[in-house]
Parts: sequence; structure tokens; C-alpha cells
Amino acid sequence: MPLVTTTEMFRKAYDGGYAVGAFNVNNMEIVQGITEAAREQHAPLILQVSKGARAYANHTYLVKLVEAAVIECPDIPIALHLDHGPDFETCKSCIDGGFTSVMIDASSKPFAENIEITRKVVEYAHDHGVVVEAELGSLAGVEDEVNVSAEDSSYTRPEEVEEFVSKTGCDSLAIAIGTSHGAYKFTAAQCTRNEQGILVPPPLRFDILEEVSRRLPGFPIVLHGSSSVPQDFVKMINENGGKMPDAVGIPEEQLRKAATLSVCKINIDSDLRLAMTGSIRKYFADHPEHFDPRQYLTPARANIKAIVTHKLIDVLGCAGKA
Ligand SMILES: [Zn+2]
Repeated sequence: MPLVTTTEMFRKAYDGGYAVGAFNVNNMEIVQGITEAAREQHAPLILQVSKGARAYANHTYLVKLVEAAVIECPDIPIALHLDHGPDFETCKSCIDGGFTSVMIDASSKPFAENIEITRKVVEYAHDHGVVVEAELGSLAGVEDEVNVSAEDSSYTRPEEVEEFVSKTGCDSLAIAIGTSHGAYKFTAAQCTRNEQGILVPPPLRFDILEEVSRRLPGFPIVLHGSSSVPQDFVKMINENGGKMPDAVGIPEEQLRKAATLSVCKINIDSDLRLAMTGSIRKYFADHPEHFDPRQYLTPARANIKAIVTHKLIDVLGCAGKA
């Protein structure tokens, strides 16, 4: 099947009590690792591209890699989504250039301005058969061009969501309930430590999610910054020359719970970066004489596939739902 929008995926996910995984892609091995997992697990899939990815790999290369994945995976629905579109022009460029979904992130702007910018993108997108994700509230952390300090982050205010959605016409809404971008989501001061000395972050604000869902029945909610920072990959990195002390993510059981509620899309990027980097570091440490990129990218791709498979089955609950 050709690239699809997320409309049907989200309707099924909402009714079925699971979430669709949105994984960021930057090169061929990442696209292949993700899509091989989704094909094997028969899971619906969102491949997303950030402004930084377009700057790194070029719009055309990324679209063609995703089109190749669509040909290789004829039995699962795949959407191509712009992650954190910063302005109308970037969204328009992706809508004109083959994406089926875009995010306009004007969450750092005042409420009225966020509505105005989002509505403009929605009008253009809907005229072209493309769906729009918008954001209210802002997450802390660093992701490509997006850099929000902890002091400037803020939870979504549930009392704003009905007006925002009705005035903008957006198709899904990203909210801030305590997730965070990157591999260092929380400072040690914000966390407690478990018996192994590993940081445990503050729990997600399910009270906000529930109030948003009560006000927007049936409406798909999106969680950004939802990597869990698997400690086995952090360990693999640190044992092979890396230095990532106190990297910490969102516990998977909290994401699993969110997926059973109104959350229909969960964004995962850092976990794939950790899998790739850990694999390559270990390969280099084990085989210092090797220099063929195919040799060290093979385990990197395999571990991306492994972590995505785990997410689809155990966290998102979308395996078998394509
Ligand atoms: Zn994000």
C-alpha cells in the first residue's frame, strides 16, 4: 500500500488501547532496522523526520528511503511525518514533498499565536490530504533544533485544549505531562535512585492526561520525548569508551499505561541512537582491525531492529495491529 496518513491508525489505536510508534529516521540502516521490525511484527508505523534530519540527510534522500521501505513492507501501513516543524514554510515544503503528516510546533509561542500558526498549517495541509499534529505545553530537553531548559518547560493546561483543537482543526495533539527530549531527561536532583544506583525520574502526570482526554473524548494524544534509555545500551556505551553517566529515561511501564489510554502516538528516538552507538562502540572495541562500514553497521542495524521489536510488543502494544 502507498504511504498513508495517521487518521485510520489513530482511530484503531484509540479504540484498541495501544499506541503507534513514531521513530526518527536519519539514514538507511535506521530505516531498515525499524521497518524490518514493524514488518515482522505486523505493526502500523510512523517514520518521522526532524528539521535536523532534513539538514543532515537531505529531504529527497529521506523520502526515497521511506518510499523504498513502503515497497519492501507492502502489508503494513506506514506514515511519513515531519517532527517539530518550526514554521509554516517547513511544513509546506514537507506537504508539497510527499509527507502524509506534519507537526507544527508553535508551543513556545503565546497561546493565541500558537493557534494562528497552527490553523494556517492545518488549512494548507488539509487542502492537500495531509494531517497535522500540534503541541500545547513544552517539554524540557534537547532534540535537534529544539532546546528547552527545565525552567522554560511547562505542563499542558487542560483548560486550554478544547479551544485550541476547535480553533485550529488539528488532527492530534502533543501534550507535556513530564516526558522530556534526549538521553538526559532529568537532573539527579529531580530524581531518586534505586538499589542499583540508577536514577528514577518523577512519574508522568496521568492526572493531566486524564483531564485532557475527558475534555477531548476520542481525540488522539501524542507523547514526545518518550525514550526509556535502556541501561544495557548505556552500559555498552560506557564499557566501550563512551561517557554517559546518569542518562535516564521514562520507565516503560508508564508508557505502556499511557498507550492504553488516549495516547495514540509515542515518539522514540534516543533509544535507537543509544542502540546504534552502543553497537558500533562495542564492535570497534572487539575488532580494532576492521574498517568496513558494513561490518560495524550490521550489528547496529540489528540492535535497532531488536529495540524496536521490543517497543512494538512490550511498550506500544501495536504488534499484530497492522
Ligand atoms: Zn519531540
